[in-house]
Parts: sequence; structure tokens; C-alpha cells
Amino acid sequence: MPPRLYTLCLEVLIPLVERIGDGQDFGHGTGPLDSVAGALTDDLLLRAYHRASRCRSAGCWKDAWKTLLTPKSQSVVLSWDRSLLQFVKTRCQNTKKVLVSRWDSFEPESLSWLPSTVTCLDFDGELFYRGRLGPALDFPSDAGQRGWLPEAEAMLKALHAARQKQPGAASTGLTELHLGAVQVTATDICTILRRVPTLQMLRHYQLVTALNLLHGEQWRHKEPLPKYRLRNLDVDFSHVVRCRMSPQAVLPPDVLQLAVLLCPEACLLHVRFDCSTSHDVLSPLTCMQHALRLLSVVCVTSGERSRLTFDDVAPILEQHGADALRSLELKVIEEVDVHVILSTCPKLERLVLSGCGNVMPPTCPGYDCAVLRLRRLRFLFFADGDDFSWDHDVPPCFWRATLAAGHGGRLEGLFLESPRIAPGTALKHLPGLEVLSLCRCPEVTLGDVVTVCGLDKASARPPRYIRLSACEGIGPREQRRLRAMLKGAHLAVN
Ligand SMILES: [Zn+2]
Repeated sequence: MPPRLYTLCLEVLIPLVERIGDGQDFGHGTGPLDSVAGALTDDLLLRAYHRASRCRSAGCWKDAWKTLLTPKSQSVVLSWDRSLLQFVKTRCQNTKKVLVSRWDSFEPESLSWLPSTVTCLDFDGELFYRGRLGPALDFPSDAGQRGWLPEAEAMLKALHAARQKQPGAASTGLTELHLGAVQVTATDICTILRRVPTLQMLRHYQLVTALNLLHGEQWRHKEPLPKYRLRNLDVDFSHVVRCRMSPQAVLPPDVLQLAVLLCPEACLLHVRFDCSTSHDVLSPLTCMQHALRLLSVVCVTSGERSRLTFDDVAPILEQHGADALRSLELKVIEEVDVHVILSTCPKLERLVLSGCGNVMPPTCPGYDCAVLRLRRLRFLFFADGDDFSWDHDVPPCFWRATLAAGHGGRLEGLFLESPRIAPGTALKHLPGLEVLSLCRCPEVTLGDVVTVCGLDKASARPPRYIRLSACEGIGPREQRRLRAMLKGAHLAVN
């Protein structure tokens, strides 16, 4: 069945299912949809959740959806609620993945509420939506109404998740936990690690703090250390842990060295730091056993000069870039040299540069810019984030390396805020483009949008969504002409 028709069928069924669910008494242990295929009830539940959450920003849950929780359910949306989890535990013996849509609080002990078959518990969506389109790609009628930055970040995250593969189903018991915006302390994370030492993924910025609490003393006394199977390391070196808004003692600078020893399989790294973080906290990453696949380095303060700079990131790119690095995110980092990124990380699939400064003068003379290409790039997010850095443009070769890779260019998501692409940079058709989102690009013309999206080619499939915010070259007339060419794709001009 064509995907759009399938979605329409689900939309029609949801109100009926909710009416059945409202009158349902589960006292007898069976439900009316128990014999329906699990894939269908799972899709209905997810669709019902998307429909309901469109109207409000906070998560939601309806008790009527209990009728969609059957013995065949495999991936479900739930509210983190003891009685509901109890209901799930008695009815759903095949559930593997849980997306939590609403929670009041989370205690590590509440992990025991889960059915033992669950392998992935996600309070965020990043894990749950691997291989499928999340709600940010539903393009509801209010697309384009949110601020450019939060919308672009949400869409990039959703596109990237949709590209990821779900891990194989071989594992049993909880292996992946994404705590997203759940408020937990490092001590809570210690409890989780003690309860579930076999976790392969535990996403929360307090993870490395917790590993240090658990094993720091041991390590500093040169006692033997255990090994964890964690593939990710998330660490916050900033002095003020933002979610708690209380000043905390900063982590010891060598804490990543301990984390790398404890977690030899780690290959996904998220780091937060602030202007007073020591510049060498990242150096243990150059001696990791596993090659890094993902590196995210985010400075949470701006305005003050940081001690940690791009010079501290470059050796990591040199070490891991050529081999395995697929995703690189740098936020609010000074003196970034895009040539180092282009030349050391040829396999990048996702590149995020947000609020970074560029090294001046550009280092083009030291490189053969014409051959630098990111041929595998699927997602490019560039936000200037600073009105006053007008003399710090990215050198034009960066745009040639990323946007004009020509045929074979694989970009699916392109998000640019004030890129100041030099006039004369030839833009090419990006045949795989799903989302084009531009903000503060006065240089962009209707012709550029038509070329990049292939709207002048009869056979080309237009992107699913185009947003043009504060692009002075696109006025009401251009907007009308674009809309006529788009044949139903979502367009927001503001
Ligand atoms: Zn160059």
C-alpha cells in the first residue's frame, strides 16, 4: 500500500479505536484488538500520539490507547506511570521498544516496572525513531511558525534518526536507555549502572560524572577496573549543570581517561564545556581503542574566550576522522578551520557547525581546496549565530566541498542560517534533498532554490519541506511562483 494511503487509513481509524478504548473494560484480561497484527496496532498507537501531540508541546497520553497495547505489541508509546506499566507488564509479552511520551518524575528503581523483554527505553525519541520518520517530519500546518533554530534542530535530529538502523533484535533485557530531558542526578545514574551493568547505551550528560563517582577512587589507587559495554560517553565539564541550575564542582580534567578505560567499546561522544574548562580534557580521546563514529563538542557559554578551542579538537579529528567519524557537531567554538574538517573527515555524513568562529585568515594556501569534498554528506547544518562576525566568513571552498559535490551529492537535509555564501558559488541540484531550510540568506534567489531543489527538472522529486526565513530575495511574487512549482510540497516563507 502506498505510504500516504496507509497513513490516511490510520488517521481514519484512530477516532474509532479511541472510541472503542474509552468504553473498554480490561478486567477480563483480553482486549478487542488482541488478534490484530502487532505492526498495525503499533502504527496506530504512534499515529494517535502524533495527532494528539500536534495540539500541545508537552507530551501526552490517553487512557483510550490502552486498547492498542496488546500481546503482539512490539514498540509502544507510554506514559511513565506505575499502574500503566503494570498493565503493560501483564499484557504485553513481546514489547521491545518503549517511547515515553509523558512523565512526572523518574526514579532509577522504576526501571523494574518494565517488562523483561524491553531492550530500548527512550524518553527522547532519538533511539525510538531510528529508521522511521518522527513527528518533526510530519509537517503539520504550523510548520514554519516556530523560530527557525528550534525547528531546524528538531528536523535535523528527526532526519538523522530516520537514517539510523535499528540494532538487531538479538539482545534481551534493557540495553539502551535515553533519558533525554528527564531530571536525574549523577547518583541516580550510578544506581542505574549498578542495576543494569550491561547497558550499551545510556544517554545523559551526567554519565561520565557517574562513572567517576563509581570508579574514580579505585582508578586513582591503581586498583583493577571493571569493563562496561557502553558505546556512548556523555560528559558535562561545565561548572553550572544547567538542568539543575546549581553550581557544581567541575569534573576532574582526566575523567575521560577513566571513562575510556571503563568503556573500551565507546564510539559516540557528547561533550559540553564552558569557558573555564581546561583545554586538555579531550586529549584522552586520541588513545581510544574504538574509532569514534560521533563527536559532539558544545560550549555552553558564549561571549567569553574559552580555554578549550578548535586546536584541542583538531588532533581528535586527525586521529579518528579518516577511519570512522560519521557525525561531527561543533557549537560555539572559536577559530574553527574548516580545512582541517574537510581534509581529515572525508566520511562525514552529518556536519553541524553552529555559532562557531572561523580562523582568520583562511588557511586555503596550505590546502589543495579543489579536491576537498564531503561526498557522503547527508546532513549539513550551519548557523552563524553571530551578527558581528561579518569578517569571519567560511571560505568559499567549504561550500564547494559540501553543496556542489555534484552528482553523487547525497544531501538530504540542508539547514543554513546566515551562511554568506560568496556570490558566484555555483549551486547544484541536490537530488536527494528532503528538507531545505534557510534563514537570513539575502543572497539566495528564486533561481538558486529552483536549481538546488531540481524544480526545473520534470523528473526530479521536490523536497518534502522548504522553509525560507528572512531571505530578502524571496518576496511574495517569488513565493507564489515557488508554490506553483512545488506541487503540494510544504513551503513556508516568512
Ligand atoms: Zn580553502
